[in-house]
Amino acid sequence: MEERIEAVRKRIRSKKIGGFFSIDPVTNRYLSGFSGTSSGILITRRKAIFVTDSRYVEQAAKQVAPSYEHVQNKAGMVAELAALMKKLHLNSAGFEESRLTHEAVLILRKKARARLVPVGNWVGEMRMVKSEEEIALMKKAISVTDKVFSETIRSLQNGITELDLVQEVVAGNFRHGAEKEAFDTIALVGAKTSLPHGQPGKNRVQKGRLVLMDMGCVVRGYHSDLTRTFFFDRIPSAGVSKIYDAVARAQRRAIRAVRPGVPSREVDAVARDYLTDQGYGDYFGHGLGHGVGLEIHEGPTVSPRSRDVLQPGMVFSIEPGVYIPRKGGVRIEDLVLVTEDGAKVLTKAPKPRVVYGQ
Ligand code: ZN
Ligand code: ZN
Repeated sequence: MEERIEAVRKRIRSKKIGGFFSIDPVTNRYLSGFSGTSSGILITRRKAIFVTDSRYVEQAAKQVAPSYEHVQNKAGMVAELAALMKKLHLNSAGFEESRLTHEAVLILRKKARARLVPVGNWVGEMRMVKSEEEIALMKKAISVTDKVFSETIRSLQNGITELDLVQEVVAGNFRHGAEKEAFDTIALVGAKTSLPHGQPGKNRVQKGRLVLMDMGCVVRGYHSDLTRTFFFDRIPSAGVSKIYDAVARAQRRAIRAVRPGVPSREVDAVARDYLTDQGYGDYFGHGLGHGVGLEIHEGPTVSPRSRDVLQPGMVFSIEPGVYIPRKGGVRIEDLVLVTEDGAKVLTKAPKPRVVYGQ
């Protein structure tokens, strides 16, 4: 945590401002260790102040890094930060504009004398490169998801619904020690797989049908993210099988293209160009991947418009997909870690084309 506070201070100095503040729970968790939902942080060149309300005083005392002074929120989180800025005679304070509401800005303008300086994605950028400890937690979350998926396909029964599959994933997450789901589990059967983020319902797993599962969990704040698509019991036609192979190959090619110093959009292009060559370019509408960590979607972005450049320690998904409206879709998603010489695939879940029923 001390390194992270110092990294913020370095940015404060180079931007020539008085401090940095945040009321965003994810930013604050990263900068302090506090896992609660209501907190404020003010870091100046000399001080680090942590604000929370009476519900969290005890938790904050346990979790928050020792260099923070604690202040109890009585006036409202934003008003409390404004009062602190005034008390410290802060002339200016930076904030991440994508993580502060307009309402908060209005209150600060009225109550703090400091000039408010939008600084972009300071902490978001720091969070893109994971520490050893963060990678260890991500591996735990990923291994839970790998186990849950393996168990689900091992006992897959003819006739169960999409919602039954969701329930199995939720139960499996808790059984293996996750805190919660990383997002609402997606389980889709048949033609509905053409909806990249379709809503699970009562479609039933049946012979020859395509099944798509997108799932993840959270372990000590860190997320996992996994997608698998498979046929149940048999492959119905050569056409869908061809789509499957193209997506799988696009993913393998993209993984091989990962290297420090490579712009992430080039990794996206490797998968996209391949799928376009195979005739599926119009059916791959989303970006190839996204960073994962304290949030399920964070930096780096892996898409045609991304300006991120890969660095060792980044963890992100590689998830090409081809979705043919009313017919079906295939997406395959793994998480990779950028290492000095390429990509390490952290996901260990099996990648079956066909799952046989019990
Ligand atoms: Zn996913
Ligand atoms: Zn994803």
